[in-house]
Order: sequence, then C-alpha cells, then structure tokens
Amino acid sequence: MTEKTAPSAAPVPSDHIMGVYSRTPLAFERGEGARLFTTDGEAYLDCLAGIAVNALGHNHPKLVSALKAQAEKLWHVSNIFTIPGQEALAKALTDATFADVVFFTNSGTEAVECAIKTARKYHWARGDRDRVDIIGFDGSFHGRTLAAVNASGNESYLEGFGPRMPGFIQAPFDDMAALKALMGPTTAAVIIEPVQGEGGARSLSEASLQAIRRLCDDVGALLIYDEIQCGLSRTGKLFAYEWAADAAPDIMCIAKALGGGFPVGACLATAEAGRGMSVGSHGSTYGGNPLAMAVGLAAVEELVKPELQAHVREVAGYFNQQLTGLKDRYPDVVADIRGKGLLIGIKLVTPNRDFMQHAREQKLLIAGGGDNCVRLLPPLTLTLDEAREAIERLEHACAAARKAAAAV
Ligand SMILES: *Cc1c(COP(=O)(O)O)cnc(C)c1O
Repeated sequence: MTEKTAPSAAPVPSDHIMGVYSRTPLAFERGEGARLFTTDGEAYLDCLAGIAVNALGHNHPKLVSALKAQAEKLWHVSNIFTIPGQEALAKALTDATFADVVFFTNSGTEAVECAIKTARKYHWARGDRDRVDIIGFDGSFHGRTLAAVNASGNESYLEGFGPRMPGFIQAPFDDMAALKALMGPTTAAVIIEPVQGEGGARSLSEASLQAIRRLCDDVGALLIYDEIQCGLSRTGKLFAYEWAADAAPDIMCIAKALGGGFPVGACLATAEAGRGMSVGSHGSTYGGNPLAMAVGLAAVEELVKPELQAHVREVAGYFNQQLTGLKDRYPDVVADIRGKGLLIGIKLVTPNRDFMQHAREQKLLIAGGGDNCVRLLPPLTLTLDEAREAIERLEHACAAARKAAAAV
C-alpha cells in the first residue's frame, strides 16, 4: 500500500490551501471562448469569466500568441530599466482616457493602493498635509489589502484584522446630501465604483456621478474611480464613467479584463493628480513586467474597439429584456434585475448560493454577489446564441429554485 494515491480526474479539496474560499469541487482543464471543459470533457457555459477577467473569452488566439511570443524573448527585468511594453500600453491607455500617467501593478487591489497613495501624496506635495481622508461607500469593494478593505464598504472584510485605519470614512450609497456633509478640508479623495461589482451590480446614475464630481471640485478633493470590474467595455462603453458627461476622474484603477486572464492592473492619473508621485515614492518588483505588458497591450487593442462595445450593448439589451421576462414569470425567485451592460445583477428572493448551484446543474457558471444577488459577467464576446442558451438555463435554474422553495 502506498500512502499517496494516483492522481485522479476527480478534484479533491486540498488541506494545504488556506481555507479562505468556499471552493466547489469542479476543476477545468481547457477553455474556448465562453466554454469551459472539465477534465472528463463536460462543457459549461461560462457567464462568470473568472469574475469579469476573461473579457475576450478563454484561449483567445491573439492573447495566446502575444504571450507565447513574449515568453520566448524576455520575462522580467526590473522597473529600474525602460520596459518598451509599458510605454506602449501606457500610451494606449492614456490615448483612450482622461489620464496622462500610469503605474502598472499585478492586481486590482495594488492599483487601489497606488490610487490612495497618489491622492494623499498629491495634497501633501502641495503643502496641504491634513488632507488625508479617503471617503468610500457602503457596499463597495476595492480589494483585500488593509488599505483597500478600509476603503471598502463591507465591515466583515475588516473583522479580526485590527482597528479600522484612521483616515477612512464610509458614506451611504448614492446619498449626495450625506456625502456632502462628510466632505471638507481634510478630504483627500472620494473612491467609488461607477457600477458596484461585488456589492451586487448596483449602478450609479449619470446625475449622481456628475454630482460627486462637482462635490469633489467644490471641496478640492480628488475623485478616484475603481473601474476594475466595470471598466474596459463591460458596460458597453470603454469605461463606465463615460456614460456621464463631465464626470471624468482624477485617478482610476483598472485590472481584471486588462490582462484577459494574465495578472495585471494599473493606476491611471492626470499629470496634475500624479504630481506627488516622485522618484522613490512607490514601486513594484513585478508590476509592468514584459509578459504582462505584451498580453495587456494585445487585450487593450481588442477591448477599445467600438464594434465590441456595440456588441456588448446589443447582448446586454437582449439579456435585460429576457431577464425582465424571467422576473415576471418567477416573482417568487427573482426580485430585481440591475447593473449595466454585461455586469448584470439578478437579485433573488431565494438564497443566491443555492441558485448558483441550480445554475451549475444546468452547466451554467455565474458569480455570486452582495445583497443576495447573482451576477452574470460573461466574456464580452458572448454571442447572442450563447446568451439565448444562458437564458434557457437560467429559466431551468429558476424552476429548480421554485421547486426547492416549495419543498421547504
Ligand atoms: C476585483 C476587484 C478589486 C480587487 O482586485 P484584485 O485583482 O482581486 O486585487 C478591486 N475593486 C473592484 C471593483 C474589483 O472588482
């Protein structure tokens, strides 16, 4: 008898992985577009896309070839050298946005960390050294570093990790009077997701984004958008803030879709907002390495295409219409349809975790979310036929949820 058994196709939960995720015993070995295949060849329709990461679908030929070509040349040097890929990707990002400068990171939360530091350092460099407060919103999510969880609006992510850091203030969601009351001469920045992701796909109106921009201008605070989930064409415009006129931020965090599955994030800023970030004030060993830049550039070249954004709006329109029908037919299961573009939230009457399981039984992958939501975050390349398939499977999941509720 050997102690260790031969590797089997069935995934076994590991005792050696820190238990911070509730993992499903489902392992995939291959992906193609919006399809994921398990080791035994079962196909799933992927309307989760690695939580809005695989925006161009799995195994996109352009991303694969960009990664392969770079892998055979150079993986890593250091930010003490000029990295041509950074120059190219920073140019593509600044050409397409309000921003003038970019700092590359390996993740979203690091982009948020950089944004918070950039905002505080801006005021400090201008001699306004009491301006340290970062105002975030209820239900928001900005990542898992200590600064990011302090800026986020989910108390449970702070629990057990010591006292709340000074200089972080929580505002109620979409309440301009309350926000105004919290802002003043110590406000460094307001950080907000134009469309909340993890919090349950809550979208801010164009008027609200404009009002927040004006409030920041009035008190001399910077505006930070966290477009890590809602950005890069997911809402049908390149960035979600573009739906509102005159609401561009001073600083913006992006990640997720930026690498299409390769870890990369970025903090974008205007030249003015970035002016405190001088030599030595920030850094990263891996951020902006040649592999990430090669894939990021290939991804951005696709993600900026107006045809892709038009496609997102079309598929999103179809989903919205069909999901509204589903809500009408299953009012005992579906409470509300929300979100923007292909960041879709379905607020449920029945437990969202159970609903994800019902969907999985239909070979449909969807994400969870706050406020008892599930989210649809498909690849932006999802076809209308695939969207139709997703709706059929969701209909079956609704029927299963109704049946389960009746059995209680
Ligand atoms: C995912 C996410 C983050 C954190 O990104 P990581 O890459 O997981 O660190 C931050 N903000 C938003 C809005 C996100 O969706």
